[in-house]
Amino acid sequence: MNYNLGDLINYKCNINIIYLWLMDLNEFRSRYSQVAAKGRYLPYALMSDVMAQFSELSVHDEGLSVNGQVIRSYTLGSGPVNILMWSQMHGNETTSSKALLDLILFVTNVKDSLILDQLKIVIIPMLNPDGADDYTRANANGVDLNRDALDQTQPESQLLLKVFERMRPEYCFNLHDQRPIFGAGSNGQPTALSFLAPSGDVDKSWNKNRTEARAILGSVAKTLSSGFSEKLARFDDAFNLNCFGDFFQSRGAATMLFEAGQDSSDYSRDQIRLQYCYALYVALERISCSSPHEDDANFYSKMPKNVECFCDILVKNAVTTSGQRVSLGLTYQEQLIDHKIVLKPFISHISPSSALFGHRVIFEPIYWKDTFPLLKVGSPVEYLEVNSNKLLLNLTIF
Ligand SMILES: [Zn+2]
Repeated sequence: MNYNLGDLINYKCNINIIYLWLMDLNEFRSRYSQVAAKGRYLPYALMSDVMAQFSELSVHDEGLSVNGQVIRSYTLGSGPVNILMWSQMHGNETTSSKALLDLILFVTNVKDSLILDQLKIVIIPMLNPDGADDYTRANANGVDLNRDALDQTQPESQLLLKVFERMRPEYCFNLHDQRPIFGAGSNGQPTALSFLAPSGDVDKSWNKNRTEARAILGSVAKTLSSGFSEKLARFDDAFNLNCFGDFFQSRGAATMLFEAGQDSSDYSRDQIRLQYCYALYVALERISCSSPHEDDANFYSKMPKNVECFCDILVKNAVTTSGQRVSLGLTYQEQLIDHKIVLKPFISHISPSSALFGHRVIFEPIYWKDTFPLLKVGSPVEYLEVNSNKLLLNLTIF
């Protein structure tokens, strides 16, 4: 992988980081990627099958989802430092879970003693199995679990808090995907990965654990490749105690949010998945073997903010029936159809006043005539006519 060797050496990092650094992305994928879990749909049964392969992990049934599915935790390592990781609390956010599976495969395969002997990582890879099956953000009661940390109205939220109280982790990893609408700043770079050391109080103060989370995330961002680092951003740190990251930060655990974003046409998010896995690995390595540097905290603080400035397809020159030229932003809606995710575009922007970028840009004039009578925000668009050819826009992710 293409990482900055100077930074790696400065971090006195372990041999596996160098090993990863030297490895080609495709080689990593062929050796360590959990290929059974691919595409965007990752239902409960598939997750259970993949996790069953890791016979060396101890398994604990933590409780039941709304629909009665068993939510399990898996413990990796036996060290003195307690870490809690959870993924897919939003059922339709699967890149984080796939990266987590790759991470477990890598750490167990190379028998990474630094991590296995220093850390005890309790992993809940799928906190919201009902949402995962239905490919929804919310759980089966329609509740966003990441707005239920304080209220504790849902069995999945109660379960996560119960595990937290039982193990009292020093570190928490809150793993998500974000929508493709974000850029890393406003200069036209998409956000491939975003990070956050969430606030633990309304003043957003930098207490000990939040400061440590910031430094770890800064070191992660710094270690990623120079070409990739332009696509890293800081997630919004508005305080909301009903979000689990903020809640656990307020309870004294150094809590970190990782979000997989969208980068150009990689809609299966396979490339991001590998970078995400590497980011998780670097964070664990930093916790296990070194104390964070002030430089790393600065690096975090200097990362651009996650800004809403992207659509999926930007049509630069649409010509309306009255001859007016407008620019159009089309954004995909995701639908689960026959166990596949189908992306269907709709109009999200018409001549936006602020800068809008597209993961795909169409410069040719598009004549918005009889076939597209509804030129308004929210209208679906199945195809465009480009130079008299029909350009189909729907995408299916296998
Ligand atoms: Zn999420």
